Amino acid sequence: MKLYMIYVYFTRVTVTSVYINWSILYNKPMSELQEYQGKATMEKITSLAKRRGFVFQSSEIYGGQSGAWDYGPLGIELKNRIQAMWWKEMTRLHDNIVGLDASILMHPRTWEASGHVENFTDPLVDCKKCKSRFRADMIPEENLAAKKCPDCGGELTDTRKFNLMFKSHIGPAEDSANIIYLRPETAQGIYVNYKNIIQSNRMKIPFGIAQVGKAFRNEITTKNFIFRTCEFEQMEMQYFVKPGTDVEWFNEWRKQRWAYYEKLGVKMDHLRWHQHGADELAHYAKDAYDIQYLFPMGWRELEGVHNRTDYDLGRHSEFSGKDMQYIDQENNNERYIPYIIETSAGLTRNLLMILCDAYDEEQVAEKGNDDDWRTVLRFHPDLAPITVAILPLMKKDGLAEMAQDIRKELQDDYSTDYDQSGAIGRRYRRQDEAGTPFCVTVDYQSKEDGTVTLRFRDSMEQVRVPRQELAARLRQEIKSYKRTK
Ligand code: ATP
Repeated sequence: MKLYMIYVYFTRVTVTSVYINWSILYNKPMSELQEYQGKATMEKITSLAKRRGFVFQSSEIYGGQSGAWDYGPLGIELKNRIQAMWWKEMTRLHDNIVGLDASILMHPRTWEASGHVENFTDPLVDCKKCKSRFRADMIPEENLAAKKCPDCGGELTDTRKFNLMFKSHIGPAEDSANIIYLRPETAQGIYVNYKNIIQSNRMKIPFGIAQVGKAFRNEITTKNFIFRTCEFEQMEMQYFVKPGTDVEWFNEWRKQRWAYYEKLGVKMDHLRWHQHGADELAHYAKDAYDIQYLFPMGWRELEGVHNRTDYDLGRHSEFSGKDMQYIDQENNNERYIPYIIETSAGLTRNLLMILCDAYDEEQVAEKGNDDDWRTVLRFHPDLAPITVAILPLMKKDGLAEMAQDIRKELQDDYSTDYDQSGAIGRRYRRQDEAGTPFCVTVDYQSKEDGTVTLRFRDSMEQVRVPRQELAARLRQEIKSYKRTK
């Protein structure tokens, strides 16, 4: 949706001022905000993500590649689960929404039609002295006016437009005839396939097309870990409706997307709507709302719900020469270019949100030791990378073998982990930090009566459960899970 410089400029300025004044704008008591900020700082989240194998810096051994991140064993599990939840919500639970996986490389005319070649820009200034590069809307206005570098006081260049699309060449010749772009949004892949999908799947308006995939933006500043990166993933659903019904559908999709985050079990008082003002709105958009999340660095966009009108299909019609009208066979073959309601969420940004939302530190003892405190990720069990960890109290006396057997029994239905090293308390802490909602401990009593200890991450309560009932009990616990802390 970020297409027009003026829109981007105002969005960014708004975000900056919200960041500065966020405690004032947010209507919770300051102490609660400070407590949240004190606990879930970006530094702690970044460090935990690396320590536990959620996210690593790309090409770290070469000093890292800014704007790019790698998802480790726990990270890819979490990302897959977020994607699966979204996919289920947006396709399986709707009779009239189908999926698509369009290619990243598209005909370059696509990006002329969409307006990206001309308008997908950020304002850029350079310092002639220290050679630093800034987004003009992210430095103090007085510096911009005085053309003074905020870092070294040197002279700044004039502001110029910088196109965020990554450009390359296809084939061996590096000339203008062979220019190709990495897609900056997944939406256009849906628009150019809309007729194919109507024909192949006999879709009738209203209907939707959902897609999850990579997008690339040559962002001038990438910071805050995976919040804004050059390579990221989007989860987009474009809903095609009859003009005149668009407002109704726009409101409906706003409702549905809000309900989705409720289902995810995230802190709902950390979510809010932000309606684009007239100065933020892309010129083709009739209305646009962002769902913002209260990240540790302030309120930031998580997802956009946009009424894109008939702009995109109209432009593709014009640029391709192909008729993009829908023919309504049930209504005297009435023809029209559908309006599009878009829901566009960042998958990788959602992952960061889920990490921040789940992060907690809790005092569990008062002995004056480091391990009086535990760090715990309170993921919804449906999202947790490991659902259940099996821990034999001892390696000897057949406990390890029994624990391995139990793991095998559960493996088909649940993502499991096995850990036999170290004191049991430490092993629980390791699982808490990975966000594992359930631990099963196999002890000597297990050998006698076939029961095991089931330990709950959030309450740290333990109950004894017959081994044969474990799988069913887990299923029931997952279904009835409600976050309490
Ligand atoms: P922002 O103002 O944060 O740059 P945007 O308005 O440009 O976002 P859209 O073009 O509407 O974003 O993209 C839809 C979603 O894609 C955003 O809500 C966000 O979750 C995600 N997204 C956009 N740009 C990035 C990026 N550089 N890195 C990670 N996620 C992104």
